[in-house]
Amino acid sequence: VKRAKATGATETYQPQAFAIAREQFGMETALRRAIEDRQLRLSYQPIHDLVTGHLVGFESLARWTDDDGRAVEPGQFIPVAEESGLIVPLGRWALDEAAQTLAQWDAVTGGHCGARMAVNLSAIQLQRDAVPDAVAEALTAAGISGDRLTLELTESALVTDPDRIAGAMWSLRELGATLALDDFGTGYSNLAYLQKLPIDILKMDRSFVTGMLADRDKIAIVRAVLSLAQALGKRTVAEGIETVELAQTLAAMGCDLGQGYYYGRPLEVEDALALLLLRNDAATTSAS
Ligand code: C2E
Ligand code: MG
Ligand code: MG
Ligand code: MG
Repeated sequence: VKRAKATGATETYQPQAFAIAREQFGMETALRRAIEDRQLRLSYQPIHDLVTGHLVGFESLARWTDDDGRAVEPGQFIPVAEESGLIVPLGRWALDEAAQTLAQWDAVTGGHCGARMAVNLSAIQLQRDAVPDAVAEALTAAGISGDRLTLELTESALVTDPDRIAGAMWSLRELGATLALDDFGTGYSNLAYLQKLPIDILKMDRSFVTGMLADRDKIAIVRAVLSLAQALGKRTVAEGIETVELAQTLAAMGCDLGQGYYYGRPLEVEDALALLLLRNDAATTSAS
């Protein structure tokens, strides 16, 4: 059986596949250096309460500008990081960086800055690293508490090694973190996990959200997810909200939180802080 598999593999290993492999290896080498040289940064996309419209937090998203000044998309380098194992140091870096950013914002605002921070966890990272330890270390180093973080994981994380992942999720919950199921609806997870695991938030993938006003099937899926979440006592986030109509429709349908180009694109750290300060100023002014 082994030999047959090996033969099959060589047969499909065409020159094109070789070129792709070489390019991936080149990217892997460059990514390893980028992590070591701290060339990666996080950008921060606003998350809003759909009913009040208020900014409530940010999702941190990894950004990489390579040696030639080109932005490499996370959709390209995250899979390379996952295949090469670099997702472990990358994931630890992202946790540290996000926690440090919150601590900095606290310092600037003179207390609790009032924003939650969401950090993405890859399924491979959860399998290979002691993620709860990494989170605890990031929190301690930054001097912030776990209830400031939302950790986003995808359904694929629940499939491979459910017992291990469940253990990690309960440990993360013990640290005070909120857990969100990202890209909800695009995976193949067994819905029974939704009651067994400490999942607080269902985050609807933008493939259902962005075009839903012109697509009855998408609306039906979004409605079903919202009613499932409501029945199970979970909160909901819609990503990919690009227009005011979408924001209003989702709010009317009972979705709690929203994220997307209508509210704001992912921002550099200083611009995210400026937005937060504006909001805090407005809150103080209206309270006085
Ligand atoms: P995600 O976690 O589902 O993040 C949402 C993605 O949708 C982001 O893409 C964001 O820029 C994009 N987006 C948000 N609002 C809109 C909108 O209104 N319209 C459109 N067209 N797009 C919108 P981004 O930054 O390219 O990240 C892609 C994916 O890469 C993320 O999907 C996440 O799975 C992964 N990723 C990014 N940063 C990290 C990280 O630090 N760690 C891990 N493990 N994965 C990451
Ligand atoms: Mg996410
Ligand atoms: Mg998402
Ligand atoms: Mg998504």
